[in-house]
Amino acid sequence: MPELPEVETVVRGLKQYILNKSINKVDVYYSKQIYGDINKVVDKRIIDIKRKGKNIIICFENNLFMIVHLRMEGKFYIKNHDEEISKHEHVVFVFNDFDLRYHDTRKFGEIHIQDNDYVDVGVEATSITYEALEGNKPIKEILLDQKKIAGIGNIYADEICFYAKVMPNEILPKDKYDLVIKGAKEILEKSIKLGGCTIRSYNSLGIEGSFQNELMVHTVDRCKVCGTKIAITRVAGRSTYYCPKCQKNNIIIGLTGGIACGKSTVVNLLKKKNYNIIDTDLIVKDLWEKEKTINDLKKLFNLDEVNKSIIRDLVFNDEKKRIMLNNYMHPVVKRIALSKIKDGVNIMDVPLLFESNFDKECDYTICVYLDNEEAKRRLMERDNISESDAIKRINSQMDIAKKRKLSTFFVDNSKGEAYRIKNLDEILKNIGI
Ligand SMILES: [Zn+2]
Repeated sequence: MPELPEVETVVRGLKQYILNKSINKVDVYYSKQIYGDINKVVDKRIIDIKRKGKNIIICFENNLFMIVHLRMEGKFYIKNHDEEISKHEHVVFVFNDFDLRYHDTRKFGEIHIQDNDYVDVGVEATSITYEALEGNKPIKEILLDQKKIAGIGNIYADEICFYAKVMPNEILPKDKYDLVIKGAKEILEKSIKLGGCTIRSYNSLGIEGSFQNELMVHTVDRCKVCGTKIAITRVAGRSTYYCPKCQKNNIIIGLTGGIACGKSTVVNLLKKKNYNIIDTDLIVKDLWEKEKTINDLKKLFNLDEVNKSIIRDLVFNDEKKRIMLNNYMHPVVKRIALSKIKDGVNIMDVPLLFESNFDKECDYTICVYLDNEEAKRRLMERDNISESDAIKRINSQMDIAKKRKLSTFFVDNSKGEAYRIKNLDEILKNIGI
């Protein structure tokens, strides 16, 4: 989606072609993106073309304005009159010597004809104010809110957060306001100078920008400052790229696996590297010793007496009660685990990493993988149980193949110790630690 620099590039391109000219005729091939009477622009001279946020404002004589929002895929092309109209060219503005064609594969763009140049957006992203940055929301969400700050989309929001060394999901501390304001101005102005980003299919009027080569985090593999693998998460519903080392001083690696997958052998290897290991099983064990936990669970399940085995029996065959228990335990465990994070590398050992949404707190995730057949064999041997009991226990958890797919990396634990060590070292090297 074109953001402020890309739209500014389109505005500058349009000026070269159509400023001071008049439209002879408008041919509409798809009308649902047009608001107002588009025929009003015929025979009126274009006296200015400007931009507000991501909106293009074409000003005609006699106080008539055409406001274009390109949204996802809107583009303009200059073509000869006799060139065939392509499937995605929805509006053709016919000038004396050429056509200006509005092309939009996704049809999300909008063209408004109005008698004023009003657009309901906030301050320009190149001159953000303190007030615009205020609000009890993640900084990325505020940067993307066009009613507060106009012109920033997913790409530049990530870049601005990197510049200011803040996490996109954090509430911006006041002492970082100046850095975000300065970063937005510098980054956007530099991108305008380079013609914006040309990524995926985006280019308009045939202009190829080159700011994609200057991106520090967005869609980048490794941090250009510290070499760490760029992590990906979701903020404000958007794919979000950041460097954990540069933007928050610590790296959190979630570690999970299936039953009898040999996760503890991997934990032992990681312990030797002197990383901060946070074992959520130990946190749960501690919680069961706490009077508060017992009292909370008595209240939750309306019981006079509570201990670990009573609760285990209670939830074993009762899905609803198991969810109640998890809804109580997971947030408590998560809060305690997060309080144990230190600067540097942290290994978050969480058997139910994805089930408890704990992966969202991690920069990367590693799944210790063992296929179900091998896990079953090891489980029967280790716990001396029957095949059907082993299968039942394996099936009671999220499928290991799914966990592997959800993880950033996986360690194949079926090929012996030497392979396991090599595999893990490769992953750590890839992360850059
Ligand atoms: Zn970095």
